[in-house]
Amino acid sequence: MIVDLVDTDHHVHSTWSDDAVSTPAENLAAAQRAGLASIRMVDHVRVGTTYVPEFLAEVAALPRVDGLEVLTGVEAKILDASGRLDVPADLVVGPGGVDRVLIADHQFPGPDGSWSPRRTLEELAAGLSAQDAMSMLVQATCSAMERAGRGQLAHLFSLLPKIGLHESELLDEHLTAIADTAVRTGTTVEVNEKWRCPGPRAVLALAAAGVDLVGSTDSHEASTVGSYSWVAEAASARRLVGAR
Ligand SMILES: [Zn+2]
Ligand SMILES: [Zn+2]
Repeated sequence: MIVDLVDTDHHVHSTWSDDAVSTPAENLAAAQRAGLASIRMVDHVRVGTTYVPEFLAEVAALPRVDGLEVLTGVEAKILDASGRLDVPADLVVGPGGVDRVLIADHQFPGPDGSWSPRRTLEELAAGLSAQDAMSMLVQATCSAMERAGRGQLAHLFSLLPKIGLHESELLDEHLTAIADTAVRTGTTVEVNEKWRCPGPRAVLALAAAGVDLVGSTDSHEASTVGSYSWVAEAASARRLVGAR
């Protein structure tokens, strides 16, 4: 059975994240109400985060729901152009740990560390070309995938509008690099409802290259778990071209 994008939600935050309001149990109940086949419980981490074992224990203690797979993850930003990730040094990925690391473009991965959108706009105004910025972002994203191994790209390209760039400025070779690296490293790529990204061109290119695409709402409260409109359109466009 092919599980469609909208039958799953691979990016749901709980109260373990500062900016989210629902407990894992509330999110689980919402996923059950929405009839999802799977939910990935995900919270924000940084290098200094220590709560991950407690978070995993809480998720593991949730009641089992027939037909609903519960997965876990942590979301971390790309720290710099080399693709370093903002994760605790003792993070366990795989058995006994989180299932995947979600790789997030919360800041621009500059050569000397992460740049805020304002700093990035200043660099662009001072002569960094849009193409060079795009290439740096794509290269850092690919390096982060190599480092994470079987990660998940969270809201790919959500940073672009914040730094005055647009997905239309991506070269085909940028999409090819991301697709090839994702396939080789077993990285899944979200189609993200909250940020409405990546756009149709990237979704179709990634799907055609065999990338495992997953639906995500990036919910910060239970009421939006598994609730899709933009992603549902992307899923039907994908079917129309027979990409999968
Ligand atoms: Zn994020
Ligand atoms: Zn998130």
